[in-house]
Amino acid sequence: MIVMKFGGSSVANAERIRHVASIIQAYKESRPVVVLSAMGDTTDHLLDAADMAVNGKVDIAKVEKLHLDTAKELEIDVPAIQELLTELNTLLTGISMLHELTKRTRDYLVSFGERMSVRMMAAYLSKQGTPAKFYDAWDIGMVSDSNYMSAELLDEVWDNIPKHLNDYKNGKQTEIPIVTGFIAKDSKGIITTLGRGGSDLSATMIGAAMRADEIQTWKDVDGILTTDPRIVKEARTVPEVTYEEAQELAMFGAQVLHPRSMIPCRKTGTPVRVKNSYNIKSDGSVIVEKHSGATPRVTAITNVKNVTLIDIQSSRMLNACGFLAHIFNQFLKWNISIDVIATSEVSVSLTVNTKADLTGLLEDIGRIAEVKATKDKAIVTLICDASHSSSILEDAFTALNKSGINVQMISQGASKVNISMLVDDSQVNDVVSILHKALF
Ligand code: ADP
Ligand code: ASP
Ligand code: MG
Repeated sequence: MIVMKFGGSSVANAERIRHVASIIQAYKESRPVVVLSAMGDTTDHLLDAADMAVNGKVDIAKVEKLHLDTAKELEIDVPAIQELLTELNTLLTGISMLHELTKRTRDYLVSFGERMSVRMMAAYLSKQGTPAKFYDAWDIGMVSDSNYMSAELLDEVWDNIPKHLNDYKNGKQTEIPIVTGFIAKDSKGIITTLGRGGSDLSATMIGAAMRADEIQTWKDVDGILTTDPRIVKEARTVPEVTYEEAQELAMFGAQVLHPRSMIPCRKTGTPVRVKNSYNIKSDGSVIVEKHSGATPRVTAITNVKNVTLIDIQSSRMLNACGFLAHIFNQFLKWNISIDVIATSEVSVSLTVNTKADLTGLLEDIGRIAEVKATKDKAIVTLICDASHSSSILEDAFTALNKSGINVQMISQGASKVNISMLVDDSQVNDVVSILHKALF
């Protein structure tokens, strides 16, 4: 048994859906369980529609047109999609009357994207003579906590999924399961989502729980690349990546995988293959526990924009126990997560997402130290074998120095597979290009 996950770009329109259906049919003998994202930019459109509804305007024209046109083009009749569209319209009307949108309602609202795409694919495959059956995540026991917009799956999922999919694995069920990615329900039965890009996590969870032979995540690029191909055209495929490297890559900005998606498959050692739906023959990248040969010096370069640097200085820090504990407690109190950190005897620099509201935090820290926040920063991360950090950094800094770029902070992760540096937001594309040239 295998799991095949297709992202939004892979199922963006009728032509792409036909193509994906043909890929699924080609893997029929491997008994695939298919996990789908919402079509194209549907999730973004739903979020936009929600914001408009809060301001009193109900408009689902884009989402409605895409789904109805696609069904028509595929020559399938899917009443279930029309029913969902009607429900969506009612929900938006409710939001527009209340002028209020909670995280919980937002999750309910974005769930329509994935729910419509699985109905579409199951209907199309069945019409093509490949019986398929759609499942909403909760139909196969995807239960999460109630942390709306970024929910965590509960441990019971490990037992729930096989209960629902074992018949298919054992050959008792012939219809190919087409399951929604991204969504779940909490124990009260309220719809939740696993965070943007969460379909990757749905797929690895199903693959791990089912002890699948392989989990395939199909993308619009040739696997995991040495850097973001939208910045560096010459970015090339990394044939093999470890779970740890893939996790760091995702956490430090490579959109190609959801940051938490490596957790389940790492537990079972299930390999994950990142493949290109536009280039089926290419092997893509495989994610495994350990490199089969020598660990490459540098695996990839990632970047995160919209970062704020916080510098905290205090002479009290000198020889004082508990100073850092006190600082970190303030971050806990204000629920602001720290990404990268560097400390010296009397100062600590750390970075946070620019979207976080820092007012209270800065006031609190300001009572015991000098504190300064600077916006418009970016983090560029080298996913590399940090045991060769001196030679890697020598090459990196020689190249950056030649271009007159100064790095403002540097941090070598405790994981031993990343080195992060802070630069100005405006420089990030240049820095990534320069480093890519120097290191690959
Ligand atoms: P999907 O809709 O299939 O989940 P995403 O759009 O979420 O796909 O993520 C894939 C995109 O991530 C690629 O199209 C690519 O532009 C971008 N990307 C950024 N960094 C990398 C990288 N290191 N390797 C591959 N893709 C990357
Ligand atoms: N549709 C969701 C998103 O756009 C989940 C996913 O694609 O993985 O974030
Ligand atoms: Mg994605």
